[in-house]
Amino acid sequence: MIEVAKPWFSEAEQMAAADAIASGWVAQGPRVEAFERAVADVVGAEHGVALSSATAGLHLALAVAGVGQGDEVVVPSLSFIASANAPTYVGATPVFADVDAATQNLTPASVAAALTPRTRAVLLVHQGGTPADVAGMHAMCDPLGVTVVEDAACAIGSTYDGRPIGSHSDLVVFSFHARKILTTGEGGMVMARRSGDATRLRRLRDHGVDVNASERHRARSTSPEHYVERGFNYRMTDIQAAVGLVQLGRLDELVSRRRELAAHYRRALGDLPGITCVADPPWGRANFQSFWITLPEGCAGRRDELLRQLLVEGISARRGFMAAHLEPVHAGAAALALPVTEELTKRSLVLPLHHGLTLDDLDRVAAVVRSAWPS
Ligand SMILES: *Cc1c(COP(=O)(O)O)cnc(C)c1O
Repeated sequence: MIEVAKPWFSEAEQMAAADAIASGWVAQGPRVEAFERAVADVVGAEHGVALSSATAGLHLALAVAGVGQGDEVVVPSLSFIASANAPTYVGATPVFADVDAATQNLTPASVAAALTPRTRAVLLVHQGGTPADVAGMHAMCDPLGVTVVEDAACAIGSTYDGRPIGSHSDLVVFSFHARKILTTGEGGMVMARRSGDATRLRRLRDHGVDVNASERHRARSTSPEHYVERGFNYRMTDIQAAVGLVQLGRLDELVSRRRELAAHYRRALGDLPGITCVADPPWGRANFQSFWITLPEGCAGRRDELLRQLLVEGISARRGFMAAHLEPVHAGAAALALPVTEELTKRSLVLPLHHGLTLDDLDRVAAVVRSAWPS
């Protein structure tokens, strides 16, 4: 069986997790702090605030950006459902904008069509790790006072304009879920440029407390803590952070292997008429966390057939990215027409891509696609 995705662990992750347990400090502690510093250094951000998930990160990032009741947040419908749900956690309304067919991401033009006087923020998703046009989005949004929060759940290790994703906005959110390129099982992190934002994020993840447990432990403080606002329990554990520190050390290797595998898929499939393969946009490099292909117009019906054929051959693939406005939870919420989103969600599929695959495995996948798609 060729799996669609699989984490890449060595003995080092197992030993790091075991060391954390042996230390007796398993909840958020020194390893979480070290992981935050290390991620911030790798991506060129000022601060990192580790959390239990990227979903928690999107919630808190919108909260510290001041988004609230009555505000609108522009999001792509073509994304994992968490992007569309996040604005609702702070009482705001998601407004779905269309994406561009080449990158499957929002563009300044598609967002411009969705702006209203109530727009407070844009959730800019780097779908599947393909960098969106961050500078273009800032150039359009900054003068209007619209905050750009990056949903970089898939994009650690991707770059925009030569710099890592994570360094271009005040608030950028990564995921370390098992399906992502770098994993701690579950987990996420918000990269913050301003120290005031980082402080507030730390407080909100920890019940709104004014000092955290490891600071109190270090200071041997006996003065009582205070709860200065309503917070949450969105903390990461030190066991997760220990695993994350090892994974982070292998990020370059993870990205370069994925880029090799993606290039091989493109060589194997790129000549099929009408089929497009995900590729780097002109402004950056993708980490190829997901490798997707899009079938030609009018071929939506053949996508599920192809998925079944792949499964028969022992290959697990997936439909392409979902469209939130077509799911019951957000049904009827789309105010704008989303023609590109609706086509892409029907005509695209995600092929297996992970560190353990060989070029021969990819050739096996490509052969099934080619036989279903005679050139
Ligand atoms: C995976 C994903 C999320 C959610 O990440 P979790 O860490 O599982 O909460 C959010 N947005 C996008 C675009 C994702 O792909």
